[in-house]
Amino acid sequence: MARVRGAARRQRTNGRVASVPAPAATRRSWARLSEQIRACRLCPLGFLRTNAVVYRGSLAPRVVFVGEAPGVEEDRTGLPFVGRAGSRLNEAIRRVGLADGSYGVLNVLKCRPPENRFDRAAARTCRPYLDRQLALLHPEVIVTLGAWALRSLDPTAPALLEAAGAPREEGEPPLFPWIHPAAAMRSRRWARRWEADLRKFRRWWEARSNKTS
Ligand code: SF4
Repeated sequence: MARVRGAARRQRTNGRVASVPAPAATRRSWARLSEQIRACRLCPLGFLRTNAVVYRGSLAPRVVFVGEAPGVEEDRTGLPFVGRAGSRLNEAIRRVGLADGSYGVLNVLKCRPPENRFDRAAARTCRPYLDRQLALLHPEVIVTLGAWALRSLDPTAPALLEAAGAPREEGEPPLFPWIHPAAAMRSRRWARRWEADLRKFRRWWEARSNKTS
């Protein structure tokens, strides 16, 4: 597994653990990497996209949310999770209590696949970008959103519905598998599962944060 090593940069402020700004060298490396991604044509998706979708969020995040691939709105704007699924995710992030500088959002695939079908061959070609992003961001925790995001970061994980809601702490950083926010909007059953996993994530995250404060 190509999970990354290390923990996010943190400092204690009035008893609370907070992210601190990324060093200038990290910001420069990030800018170079983002330019490479935006110019990339290494796989066929690069010729179909409007915009490559790189990242939104802090460059010193405590939590990184990893989705699968950009959709229509993401392709149009160049930003991940900006459509209805993005609103659902943003609401969950607020409820967990993560402040703006504490998290980031990205996808395994940087360019939109036709009909939003996850393209495994393209994901293999695109993978070094994800690894380099995570190495620069080095979050404390990664939350995977959906089956392909989980499988990409932890091929040994069980099927999504079995894995979702239970932290996988054997790697560094640990993963928290979650269903995709778009799935949560498909039916009441999936919405209930989304809510249940949100509660589990909040409890786990609070317990982790209390240990480090
Ligand atoms: S999906 Fe990844 S590998 Fe393919 S063109 Fe886009 S950035 Fe390059």
